[in-house]
Amino acid sequence: LSEKLGGILDRLTGRGSLSEADVDAAMREVRRALLEADVALEVVRSFIERVREQAVGATVVKSVTPGQMVVKIVHDELVATLGADGQTIDLNAVPPVAIMMVGLQGSGKTTTTAKLARRMTQRDKRKVLMASLDIYRPAAMEQLAVLGRDLDIPTLPIVTGQKPAQIAKRALEAGKLGGYDVVLLDTAGRTTLDEEMMSEAAEIKATANPHEVLLVADSLTGQDAVNLARAFDQRVGLTGIVLTRVDGDGRGGAALSMRAVTGKPIKLIGTGEKTDALEDFHPSRIAGRILGMGDVVSLVERAAANIDAEKAARTAERMRKGQFDLNDMREQLLQMANMGGISGLMGMMPGIAKMKNQIAAAGIDEKILKRQVAIIDSMTRAERKNPDILKASRKKRIAAGAGQNVEQVNKLLKMHRNMADMMKAMGSGKRGPLAGIAQA
Ligand code: GDP
Ligand code: MG
Repeated sequence: LSEKLGGILDRLTGRGSLSEADVDAAMREVRRALLEADVALEVVRSFIERVREQAVGATVVKSVTPGQMVVKIVHDELVATLGADGQTIDLNAVPPVAIMMVGLQGSGKTTTTAKLARRMTQRDKRKVLMASLDIYRPAAMEQLAVLGRDLDIPTLPIVTGQKPAQIAKRALEAGKLGGYDVVLLDTAGRTTLDEEMMSEAAEIKATANPHEVLLVADSLTGQDAVNLARAFDQRVGLTGIVLTRVDGDGRGGAALSMRAVTGKPIKLIGTGEKTDALEDFHPSRIAGRILGMGDVVSLVERAAANIDAEKAARTAERMRKGQFDLNDMREQLLQMANMGGISGLMGMMPGIAKMKNQIAAAGIDEKILKRQVAIIDSMTRAERKNPDILKASRKKRIAAGAGQNVEQVNKLLKMHRNMADMMKAMGSGKRGPLAGIAQA
């Protein structure tokens, strides 16, 4: 996708800001990529609309191509839509905490139940009981029992002739009696969304009152993902989604669709058939998959880094040319007030190591920096551009505006002169970058 986008947009004049025509061309490609990734149509539409709003008029910084810029905007919106990192299973309730799995047949409910039981037992040190509520396929209950034996995690003894809700009730009673922390309820699916499955799931939920209801869905689910997630959420009520078969070649569109229509977080992903193949969900990885390129994340990171670096480079460039006015100084002071900023800017200059000591020597702490910024803030635009026009009456006005005295204004102006001289000298000269400041 990024290559195509890059191709389209790089042919356009493209610098400055993204025009509506640029964005429209890009959005056609994004739309195609989302549909290829099996994102549901209705979700594609609203997503494109949100991206378009952000992209039109967005400033394209010099060091990234418009294509990269659009990819970054699309990627960031994808990540925002997919939700935050670290949405885990909530066990904060009176034990035994019931967790119910729902989903279509073959989506991976039984496997995920075992995976979750394993993680909670081994990593979280919880006492877990698993129960199969799948009365339709005798092999289904046996499947869970086998998994439980392999993992050395108990399963509810099989009693024939009980309805799913009755089994759920029995599981919770056994959970209470046995002092279990968690009871996992593995329900039966159907091959299609049908009323029987929904009413059964609703009944189990009413009986067991689960703390979490997880929709287990295959990441290869295409356009149906929307109906599936919406139906389960409306009829049963979901607390989260587990996306399975992420190890397959699905492009992850289902994640975006389900998250978008339900607003429920994707809590876990299944990445294989084995019971240890369960991972936390990271939106940016799925976003990369949806955009159809492995390196989209690094591309985006590079773009973001360039955007910051370019801002710093612009200031540095102006300094070198001796155009360092009070606006630039204000920018500098703010950057210094924030130590992340200072290394970003000063990393581009020589003598960085010495600088920290000089700052300390000059007593430039955050409070002083903010006060200096306040002085510049109470100047007019013309004054900031050309400090030479600052005579006594103007200084008095500025000092009053910033709640400080004229002496402090003078000190700031002297510091600016020193910095500007030093910056100019730096092009050819050999003085350390903050020599001027230390003298102020
Ligand atoms: P259920 O009908 O919803 O209970 O589905 P199962 O748990 O029985 O899983 C159906 C098939 O999918 C089994 O063969 C599983 O091994 C397989 N499966 C489940 N989760 C994953 C996964 O994350 N990756 C892969 N590759 N296979 C999975
Ligand atoms: Mg099953």
